Parts: sequence; C-alpha cells; structure tokens
Amino acid sequence: ELASRMRVKASEVIAKLMGLGVMATINQAVDVDTAMLIATDFGYEVEQGITEEIGIQLLEESQEGGVAEPRSPVVTVMGHVDHGKTSILDAIRKTDVAEGEAGGITQHIGAYHVRSSAGDVTFVDTPGHAAFTEMRSRGAQVTDLVILVVAADDGVMDQTREAISHSQAANVPILVAVNKIDKANADVDRVKRELSDYDLIPEDWGGQTMYCETSAKKGIGIDELMEAIQLMAEMLELKADRKRNAKGRVIEAQLDKGRGPVATVLIQEGTLKVGDYVVVGMHSGKVRAMLDDRGRNMKTAGPSIPVEVQGLSGVPQAGDEFVVVTDEKMAKNVSQARAMKAREAELGASSKISLDKLFEKM
Ligand code: GDP
Ligand code: MG
Repeated sequence: ELASRMRVKASEVIAKLMGLGVMATINQAVDVDTAMLIATDFGYEVEQGITEEIGIQLLEESQEGGVAEPRSPVVTVMGHVDHGKTSILDAIRKTDVAEGEAGGITQHIGAYHVRSSAGDVTFVDTPGHAAFTEMRSRGAQVTDLVILVVAADDGVMDQTREAISHSQAANVPILVAVNKIDKANADVDRVKRELSDYDLIPEDWGGQTMYCETSAKKGIGIDELMEAIQLMAEMLELKADRKRNAKGRVIEAQLDKGRGPVATVLIQEGTLKVGDYVVVGMHSGKVRAMLDDRGRNMKTAGPSIPVEVQGLSGVPQAGDEFVVVTDEKMAKNVSQARAMKAREAELGASSKISLDKLFEKM
C-alpha cells in the first residue's frame, strides 16, 4: 500500500526496508515511524493519520452505488414551551402498535422508533433547540423533518420563531401541528396568518406547508399527523442502502458505571452488527452489545433505527460521526490520529491564549 501510494515498486520499498535492517514481506505492516522514514527517502512528506482517513474515504467509496431502499423518516418536534410538544409525543406513542409487546417500557436513549399503522417514524428527542443547533454546528444533520407545535390559543411565540429559523437555516422542511384546538379561545386561522409571515403558507391557502390540527389532550388529529409525516417522507424520497457498512450519528452519550461508555447512535446508512469495529469521533471500539429504545438486546440495526451501543473506548460527543471500519487496527489508528490532532489543536490554542495573556500584561 505504501509503495502504491508513492507510485514505486513494492520491491523498491522492501529493498529500502532491508537497508534499514527491517526484513519485510510484501503485505507486512510497518510502523508509522518506519513508513515515514521510507516515504521521506522517496521524497514524500507524511502526515500521520491522513492515510487512515484516506482508508475510510476509500472504504466509503467502495460502498457507494448499492441499492437504496426506502427508510422511515427521522423527526424532531420543536416549538414554544408549553405548546404541547411532550403531550403530542405521548399521544403518538399511544398509537405505537408495538406498545403492548413484552419489555415495552421505553428507555430514555434520546431517540425512539414508533411503529404505527400509518408507517414507522423515528423521533429524536433532544432536549430543546440547543442540542439541535449544536449538532448542526458540528455538521450533523439527523432530522429529516421538523414538527412545529404551535398552541392555537397562544400563537407564534419566541421559541416558535427560533424553531423556524433553526429549521429553515438547516433546510429541514416543517410540518405544522396547530395544537390545543379543544380550547375555547383556539384560533387556527390566526396561527396560519402569523406563520405565513415566515414562509409557512398553508396548502389550503395556496402554499406548500402542511398543517395538522391537533388536540394532544383529547387525542384529536394524531392519526392525521402521523399520516402527514408519512406523506412528507414520501415526497422527500428518503432512502438508504441497508447492505453497506453502517454509518450514523451520535445522539447522546455518557459514561455508565457498570457498562462503561454508552452512546445512542442513529443509524443513517447500512446495518450495524454486534461485533463490528467502529470509529466514533476520537474514539474507537467493537460493538459489544446493542440495546433498542425499549432496552432489548439487538443483533443488528438498520437505517433510521436508534440504538444504544456499548464497547467504545471513550465517551463521544453528540453529533459525532459513527462509522464501521474493516478491522480493529484501522479503528484504533484513525481514532488515535484524531485524538492527537485534537490535542495538538488544543495545545496550539492554549499557547496562543497564554501568549495573548502575556501581551495583555505587557
Ligand atoms: P411542552 O412544553 O411543549 O412539552 O408542552 P406540554 O406537552 O408539557 O404541555 C403543556 C401543557 O399544555 C400541559 O399542561 C398539557 O396538559 C397542556 N396541553 C398539551 N396539549 C394540549 C391540548 O391539546 N389541549 C389542551 N387543552 N391542553 C394541552
Ligand atoms: Mg416538554
């Protein structure tokens, strides 16, 4: 591999190695320092870690062109406080056909998968907009569509506007749920008028935005909301190749006393299996066990499925990319190279700070 990257014959590399007293066969691994020495000898400059990142890129490219199959939508519910986000999620959960199954107690893992008669939906239950924007600032787009909950008796408020601007900045389509329509002072038209100022013009007014009228409290309009989600999902043509190596994003992660680092990962491509080697941010690991959102052991998890993964070398950050690699060595090398880079950047930043401080005093 080293020879082909330098576009020289493998025998030339082997000869150079022999000159250094290293007896190597054509497919033998050499350590980084030796590889650097050899490459420098051939007139190349080697940056540690880059080769492994290239390895991941090549792995990614080799996986392209598979069969993309429909996957279920990943949805985030947003809106002003007390407008009924939690109540709507609770009402949706009650439509889950799997709710009665054994071990059906939902665990809090930051995301969960609902199987309804209208179709499957994955909800990302990140606490508040901060998590949503932080994930996005880290380049992680996990949400396919946003359900914007607006109380019909209250109308557009500060956090409604915030949710709109975050969703629109992220280019995530919005489905509006006008909630609390059971209330005496509910005014659906007023909500539609107010939201039209933000480019959310209702379909029945000639616009493009779907509106659902709900009462989470009375269970009105929830089935229609689930159907609207599926309709939007169909329009978005959400697809994934479930046969390739798995790739996803960390939704949340923490250190568990008994189980070590655990991370909730939303699978976006491929199928994750127990025993897979993974790189996740600056950490690596081997998937030791996977639990679903009901705390049940899983052997595999496909696209749009959230799972809690055990077996990581450390606690990753929300938004980190999670990718299955070919072997343990690659997993370790990439994660170590990334950790080293981060440390270097940190050291660079702190020495800069101390210099600035120094100048401040002068
Ligand atoms: P969140 O802060 O957006 O998660 O709002 P919650 O779901 O916690 O709801 C806030 C309050 O509004 C609670 O007291 C709910 O019982 C109430 N609520 C939610 N949905 C409805 C509804 O459709 N109708 C009425 N009347 N009250 C509702
Ligand atoms: Mg809530």
